[in-house]
Amino acid sequence: MEFKQHIKEVENWPKEGISFKDITSLMQNGPAYKQSVDALIDYARKQDADVIAGPEARGFVVGCPAAYAMEIGFVPVRKEGKLPRETVRVEYGLEYGKDVLTMHHDAIQPGQRVVILDDLLATGGTIEATIKMIEQLGGTVAGIGFLIELDGLGGREKLEGYDILSLIRYA
Ligand code: 5GP
Repeated sequence: MEFKQHIKEVENWPKEGISFKDITSLMQNGPAYKQSVDALIDYARKQDADVIAGPEARGFVVGCPAAYAMEIGFVPVRKEGKLPRETVRVEYGLEYGKDVLTMHHDAIQPGQRVVILDDLLATGGTIEATIKMIEQLGGTVAGIGFLIELDGLGGREKLEGYDILSLIRYA
């Protein structure tokens, strides 16, 4: 299936000059949602994942069904103040500003192979922060899967040395 046709491009949102890639239109289409998540599941299996991690909120959209199908755990990566127990935290630069991401301190067991799933790779800041926390907890990042990759924003370069799959690319 050609997944790109299910993504809606919204010009000048959330601010002037940004062409936002809206994945809700893909999620609304049952076969497109299933087949795109299935492709990420195939990838996570190939990378021999022990656990899936996903940044809020759209990383949950792809990460949770993948973990469920694989019968492995899902680890939420959340903005500061959202997780109830002891956390690790990393500050990161986002396409639209700065933020902090956190994970529970016991979310990853040392030696676990973690596949990170998210909707979209832009500058790579979100995933770089996620990788730092996973590695700090002793996990190995076995692969990173996206629905969408935006070329030219430096994301792939920032994540050099890690295995990346993206289903849809925009130049
Ligand atoms: P990065 O950290 O790679 O610069 O930005 C990626 C993060 O920002 C992802 O978690 C993603 O959800 C969000 N993001 C940035 N631009 C877009 C976009 O055009 N469409 C969607 N769906 N998410 C975006």
